Amino acid sequence: MKVCASILFPLPLPEAFDYAVPEGMDLSIGDHVVAPLGKREARGVVWDLKSDDGKRALKTVSQRYDAAGLSHTTVRFVDWAARYLVQPPGIVLRTILRGEDSLMPSPTDTVYRLTGRPPARMTPAREKVLDAMQALEAPTAAEIAREAGVSSGVIKGLVDAGALESFDLPKDPPFPDPDPDRPGLDLSELQAGAADTLKRLVRAGGFQCALLDGVTGSGKTEVYFEAIGEALKSAANGQVLVLLPEIALTQSILKRFTDRFGAEPAVWHSGLPPKERRRVWREINEGRARIVIGARSSVFLPFRNLRLAVVDEEHDPTYKQSDGLIYQARDLAVARAKIDGAAVVLASATPSLESLVNARSGRYVHVPLPARVGTAVLPQIETIDLRQHAPPAGRWLSDPMVAAMKETLAAGEQVLLFLNRRGYAPLVLCRDCGHRMTAPDTQTMLVEHRFTGMLVCHLTGFSMPKPDVCPNCGARDSLTSVGPGVERIAEEAAAHFPDATIELFSSDMTGGAEAIRQLVGRMERGEIDILVGTQIAAKGHNFPHLTLVGVVDADLGLAGGDPRAGERTYQTLVQVAGRAGRADRPGRALLQTHDPEHDAIAALVAGDRDAFLDVERASREMLQLPPYGRLASVMISAQSEDRVEKAAAEVARCAPMADGITIWGPAEPRYGVIRGRWRRRLLVRAERSVDLSAYLSAWRARVKQPPSVRVTFDVEPYSFV
Ligand code: ADP
Repeated sequence: MKVCASILFPLPLPEAFDYAVPEGMDLSIGDHVVAPLGKREARGVVWDLKSDDGKRALKTVSQRYDAAGLSHTTVRFVDWAARYLVQPPGIVLRTILRGEDSLMPSPTDTVYRLTGRPPARMTPAREKVLDAMQALEAPTAAEIAREAGVSSGVIKGLVDAGALESFDLPKDPPFPDPDPDRPGLDLSELQAGAADTLKRLVRAGGFQCALLDGVTGSGKTEVYFEAIGEALKSAANGQVLVLLPEIALTQSILKRFTDRFGAEPAVWHSGLPPKERRRVWREINEGRARIVIGARSSVFLPFRNLRLAVVDEEHDPTYKQSDGLIYQARDLAVARAKIDGAAVVLASATPSLESLVNARSGRYVHVPLPARVGTAVLPQIETIDLRQHAPPAGRWLSDPMVAAMKETLAAGEQVLLFLNRRGYAPLVLCRDCGHRMTAPDTQTMLVEHRFTGMLVCHLTGFSMPKPDVCPNCGARDSLTSVGPGVERIAEEAAAHFPDATIELFSSDMTGGAEAIRQLVGRMERGEIDILVGTQIAAKGHNFPHLTLVGVVDADLGLAGGDPRAGERTYQTLVQVAGRAGRADRPGRALLQTHDPEHDAIAALVAGDRDAFLDVERASREMLQLPPYGRLASVMISAQSEDRVEKAAAEVARCAPMADGITIWGPAEPRYGVIRGRWRRRLLVRAERSVDLSAYLSAWRARVKQPPSVRVTFDVEPYSFV
């Protein structure tokens, strides 16, 4: 019997294809190969090896890369994820393989060192080189020539004379090995107890998931560091993945890793330069990068021996990737760990309902950390009822809010004003004719950014200068800004406190990640009096001088068709309030609201998370929404309204009949047109016992639409716009 190899290509093909293996080529599952595909040669991965009777006319594998193959668990993870996400496996494989470069050995530089044997003949130029070499570490010829001020001929002469020798140095240096035994901070009794539980879990080996449920400032990072140390000790090549939601902002946490384990961790996110990507991917695939800190896409890295996955801020909605390959990184991290037999730590001050339900049912180990470290106490949360304290027209800060700000500033402390809306005003309309400024090819209102003088679509990024005349009636200077964004709140704060240093903090800041890091630094050092920020200001920062958090509109986000709206509002408000009073100064949070009786807000004030969750849970259970039932969305888009209507009706007709499945729609989503494409959505609810992925996959197979119609399946959707 001969052997044939099934090769999976990183392409949207339905399955792996069989190839003959040439004489003398020794292949294993996971190996990277090149094989003919149609008229070209394509890179692929050995997915299976089977015996073959030699009767089929098979094409032959052309080449095997001399690089470590994907681990068996990575191969299994691709198959699992493809099935779960209702995607061809090649699309998931494409996400795993990034650039051919990583399969080649690292490119090298030719560098020089002293041999210790002086040259028989010394010249002033040679002496300069030998002097310069004392201070240089593995320099290239160009570096030596520059440093010593000599020509390259002198260096060659010294090599010929035996005084210098050259060797190759990889351009992509390996990551230094972390030291799990370095001591961390002295843990509080509470922290030590939690750390022991996590360490026991890691030591036990095999898949287990813990929910580290600790209030803001309880020192969760220090606790999961202990679990990481244990995982590193558990196997010489054991690997740890730490997912963080805003990796670009996390310079300070990287430093904490380096301090704790004495070595720089590998970092992965979409903004990495190609050289660094190549290095990180290769080092992980070879099993040499031990600690990997990454954004959501790092669940698709080719781990060789994953022992622990940590998902910090596990509730964070940005773990959901909604373009291209659609996935929830937290859920995939848990699945990946299960395949690898690794432990998982999900950490959050405001865990998702999904994870809390798993913790309650005993599926996850619940590890609570109910108190802040040291003397710090949780902030006091109060509401300001806007029905009694309405700010004057065109203003958004109520009298009690301004009074609290005044007190705080007088005490030399900092204020954070939170409003989850970028720009100056969310709506621009004409005073004369009532025309609203909308995006040209998207059904959204344009948001005014006064700082840049632009009107911006926050969904697609479209922008245009704010016109002087109304495009509808031609009236001059009639366009007026309605409602507040952070820029407008900053303007109002400046009117109240002209001497205060006020800065804006939102994700569209110019200057990117570096500007954000500098701003966070200024805030940490107390150089800013009032920070006006969106969501981005609510995440994970430690601002020791911040004692007042003012939430401008606590009701924002409670409306809308999203089943997680209440939960998300609650989480955001706890997180933002949690920025206050981190060091020894007690903090407080004031929430401006029209609806102080709302479950989420009342629970916040009472500090009674369980009461809120009980209500949330009951309503989800009644409606059979996640985690009690499962959801999927099927989005259909086309170039005209007529076509999308027809296509959506046709897609709906293809839905297989099945028990335990409810389908709603097709309906027009909140944004009926995006980038000139008309949209319709079907929502699918399945009972927990139904294999939703298998159902969707059967559905997908029956959908026959022309390429101009896009049909996207999203398992566990998080966005309902
Ligand atoms: P969380 O993620 O729970 O909000 P962190 O792990 O970021 O908390 O810790 C908050 C702050 O408390 C950090 O500055 C951290 O260095 C400090 N910290 C945590 N644990 C201890 C400890 N045992 N002793 C001293 N400082 C600690």
